[in-house]
Formats: sequence, C-alpha cells, structure tokens
Amino acid sequence: MTRTNKALVAYFSATGTTKGFAARLAIVIVAAALLAGCCSLPTNNQRDGFVTLAEAVPDAILEIRYYSTYNFVGERIDGYEHPCALLTKEAAKALKAASDDCVRRGYRLKIYDAYRPQRAVAHFVRWAADTGDTRMKAPFYPNLDKSVLFAQGYIAEKSGHSRGSTVDLTLFDMKTGKEVDMGGTFDWFGGESHPDFRGITEAQYANRMLLREIMLAHGFKPLEEEWWHFTLVNEPYPDTYFDFPVRQ
Ligand SMILES: [Zn+2]
Repeated sequence: MTRTNKALVAYFSATGTTKGFAARLAIVIVAAALLAGCCSLPTNNQRDGFVTLAEAVPDAILEIRYYSTYNFVGERIDGYEHPCALLTKEAAKALKAASDDCVRRGYRLKIYDAYRPQRAVAHFVRWAADTGDTRMKAPFYPNLDKSVLFAQGYIAEKSGHSRGSTVDLTLFDMKTGKEVDMGGTFDWFGGESHPDFRGITEAQYANRMLLREIMLAHGFKPLEEEWWHFTLVNEPYPDTYFDFPVRQ
C-alpha cells in the first residue's frame, strides 16, 4: 500500500463515511493530488535512478553498519534488506572518480552508509524517543545523555541521506591493510566528530583533511558536524526523500 493510500484509509477510518462524504472526498482528492506531486512514482521507477556501489564503485569496501547490529541502535535498521549501498547515478559517478583518486594514492574508500530510506530515519527517531534503550551507549555516546539527541541535532525527522546523494565513508590504507586513523569512529555522537576538531593528533587531523580534499575535488560538500559525511553538490533530487528499501 502506498503512503497516500494509507492516508486515505486512515482518513476514512477516522471520519466515517456518512455525513459530508462528497465534501470530504473532494478534500482528500485535492490533498492526494498535492502529495502525488512529490512522491507518486512507483517504487520500481524511483529505484531506476539509483545504482549499487558494488557495481558503480567496485574498488570501494562496503561495511554497511545499518544492516548489521553494530550501530548506535544495536539492531538491523528498518529498510536495510541487503548488505549493499545505493546512490543516485550522479553521486555514484562522482564517487567512482573519488575512488579512482584514492586508489592512485594507495587508499580505498570504505563505505558505512549511502542512500537511507525514510523508514530507517523513522527507526532512528523511535529509538531516540526511547531514552531507556542505551544498549550501544558505550561505543557510540558514552558522554552524552540520550535525551539531548533531538535538541542537539544528532537525530532528526529527515536525513539528507534519503535524497540518495549522500555517503558516509572513510579511507582504508592499502599499505597497512587497516582503516586510516581519523581520531574517532563513524557515528560517534560528540564534538570530536567535527572535521575541524583539534583535540586529536596532527596526523589524525591530516587524515581527515585528506578525505575531505579528495571528496571535495570530486564534487562533494562536507558536513561541519561529521568528518565521514559528504553530499554531492549538484544532487539530482534535492527535494525528494525516498523510502524504497536498500536491496540489490
Ligand atoms: Zn551521514
């Protein structure tokens, strides 16, 4: 059932259908038409604008944390049906160029997340509202009270990732066979994750700047709160928050 259909069913369930039916129906039809302007494409058509990173960026290493239980929630996140990563064709093309750049420098890109369905964001919101659930506090937010996650912007009702042109990633060093030391880990909730945080070593800071330099050189823009997060500057769907599941 589409979201619009669900809304219609919910509307009729709530209002009944005996009095003023025609008037209510007219309102619903207008509302549905307005909604259809942004999200009427069938799921299959929406997915057509996307590619898997395994196909588009074969040198990238995938570690899809929201498919696994090793993430700040502690369970697989809604909408992650396969351990794969999707991006819009445009973002994937830019990421391929960034990846080629990395390979020339002796690195690989390691991907933690890319397109994120709206239902996954809703899962985060549900989790954040349940302040008693602190299963993954130690590895991800040991110094933060969970009740501040909304107020301080760590969790929001929408994420740029749902527009399909944003990626979370780090560098993997081909010489050492390990992730590059960024002085912090993906999804750490705290000021230490700001790319310009200076309470880390010079080498760690230089590593953050190297990742940033590579991504910016290939058409991405950074986020001031998370060193691992980049969005394609010319993203093709700047106003659309998709909800089809992550699958091959
Ligand atoms: Zn991100």
